[in-house]
Amino acid sequence: MSLPAKRRKTRPVRVGELIIGGTAPVAVQSMTNTATTDVAATVRQVKQLETAGCELVRVAVPDREAASRLQEIKQQIAIPLVADIHFDHRLALQALDQQVDKIRINPGNIGGKDKTLEIIKSCQKQGTALRIGVNSGSLEKEFLRQYGGPTPEALASSAVAHVKLCEKVGFDQFIVSIKSSDPLVLVEANRLFAGYNQVPLHLGLTEAGSYPAGAIKTAVGLSPLLLAGIGDTLRVSLTGDPVQEIKVAQEILRATGRRQIGPEIISCPTCGRLNYPMEAIEKQIRHALQECDLPITVAIMGCEVNGPGEARLADVGIAGGRESGLLFRRGKVVKKLPAAELVDGLLDEIDKLSAEASK
Ligand code: SF4
Repeated sequence: MSLPAKRRKTRPVRVGELIIGGTAPVAVQSMTNTATTDVAATVRQVKQLETAGCELVRVAVPDREAASRLQEIKQQIAIPLVADIHFDHRLALQALDQQVDKIRINPGNIGGKDKTLEIIKSCQKQGTALRIGVNSGSLEKEFLRQYGGPTPEALASSAVAHVKLCEKVGFDQFIVSIKSSDPLVLVEANRLFAGYNQVPLHLGLTEAGSYPAGAIKTAVGLSPLLLAGIGDTLRVSLTGDPVQEIKVAQEILRATGRRQIGPEIISCPTCGRLNYPMEAIEKQIRHALQECDLPITVAIMGCEVNGPGEARLADVGIAGGRESGLLFRRGKVVKKLPAAELVDGLLDEIDKLSAEASK
């Protein structure tokens, strides 16, 4: 099998203006960690996430007061809003009245099949998307009993049972997520489920921890799936600022060849052959490109060993020399610059590429 594999065929689900599944690119999402009742703080954080590249945002709805603020939040943001509901199905119905773009529930903690069905039917009536989440921490007792614990088979079987419930009432605008904090269980459960149907999958590893360990653990869990063509949207769950989640998600998508969002920076680890301040230059360039959405490769290389080769293959690049560097653009040397002028020289070339792309 050549990697990455062709995307698994899934049906498209509309979430506000965003399509998840079908031929749409794998969508990047996150969740706020502000109190949803603090509308100003929540909107501020959503805007930060949006700037970083978040395409869909979820907010916690722990009570009626939080649910009552959803419309106010939605009116002030540009990306689709998802209401995260647990334990009380009436909050989902209240969120639907607030015109959210998607509801997320875990049937395992919502209080039984009837309540899940009531939410499914309400989403169907309102034309709102639904995410059905199966988590190892809130798996229904019947599956825990049948499989002796939250095994991949138990998680996938629970998800299939919910798919059948939706199919029974003719509802197809839903997405499934099967999450675990164990990357191996996550991979196996999603693989099992993916072979069964065309329901779009939301990928994520729960309780991953903080950056960088959580990012690495998430990459280990999500990459085999993405490389196999499985996954239509993803959330990287990290303790701390959610903006970090977006950056990690974008890196995972880039590395698995699923999507290039913004520039990809290729840089060597440096070694004793380095003769120019590459680390500082790489930092400045990375910082300057933080909000650039041009899908280009930028190579920043230490010396003549791999430098010219990598820099030539990239859209733009630097190959370091003695207190200087060669500036490359699409395979050709543009000029040789002293170290102090390399950052500006490279950024100028990127500006030119950007101007050409927008013509
Ligand atoms: S490109 Fe040059 S400086 Fe960078 S790691 Fe390779 S040999 Fe060392």
